[in-house]
Amino acid sequence: MQVFEKIKYTREFINARKAEGKTIGFVPTMGALHEGHLSLVDQAKKETHIIVVSVFVNPAQFNNPDDLQKYPRDMEGDMQKLKQRGVDVVFAPSEQEMYPEKTSRTYDFGHLDKVMEGKHRPGHFNGVALIVHKLFDIIHPDKAFFGNKDYQQLVIIKQLTRQENLPVEVVGCPILREPDGLAMSSRNQRLTQQERKIAPVLYQTLKKAVELRNHQTVDAVKRFVTEEIKKTKAIELEYFDIADSNTLTSINKWSESDNPRGFIAAWLGDVRLIDNMAFN
Ligand code: AMP
Repeated sequence: MQVFEKIKYTREFINARKAEGKTIGFVPTMGALHEGHLSLVDQAKKETHIIVVSVFVNPAQFNNPDDLQKYPRDMEGDMQKLKQRGVDVVFAPSEQEMYPEKTSRTYDFGHLDKVMEGKHRPGHFNGVALIVHKLFDIIHPDKAFFGNKDYQQLVIIKQLTRQENLPVEVVGCPILREPDGLAMSSRNQRLTQQERKIAPVLYQTLKKAVELRNHQTVDAVKRFVTEEIKKTKAIELEYFDIADSNTLTSINKWSESDNPRGFIAAWLGDVRLIDNMAFN
């Protein structure tokens, strides 16, 4: 496994593989890797020849400095996991390498980044788009693999590639969960033992909400989720919404979407968790 900190060497290595006719699969991450990340690597291995994983905690996508500072980091553990999984290249740049100068580009994703995560984390998706755009420009992947865990991010990255004419296919991959249903996340490490026991309530509530779909209105399902989460005192609901999976437009009637999806964000202590689930 090659580990590069510099853009120049990463480009040279990848260009040489491309010249040999190899296809490049890319998995961008912020490290503190778990099986969810590694499932993206597995998918990439099925679809492309050379697997590149980036590990970079991107300051531009953190609207909360405390969250950035507390974000888990484990470079040594990450390298071991990626090596074991058969990754070819790890790109782990410094902040200086990625942002040699202050960058102030603003993307316009219309409605897509104004709702849910975009509404509650101002500037977050602009920071995500900025880094992913830069990474695509360095790696030139044929395919890039993103988790449905961050579903809104996936939709926005697909939009980014369309509006910037980027020659990369964006592949969405299923959410990996712990045995009790909690969506795997680097942030789960920060939960106390007590909070970790409570955390699967998000998944359980989403699952019950999906089961209600056939005999309840959209409004009734939204109320159910709010009430259900309120029962667990330790969890503070930030939002729950049901929106179309492609347009992310909130729906009021089931007939308004062929692909409705429930999106939830909540706080457990000082850890913010998100999850989502398809309603069909
Ligand atoms: P992150 O390191 O949180 O930026 O995540 C890097 C990539 O891993 C993103 O595409 C995430 O959606 C994906 N990912 C994170 N957690 C999971 C999970 N539990 N299942 C599937 N993909 C995930």
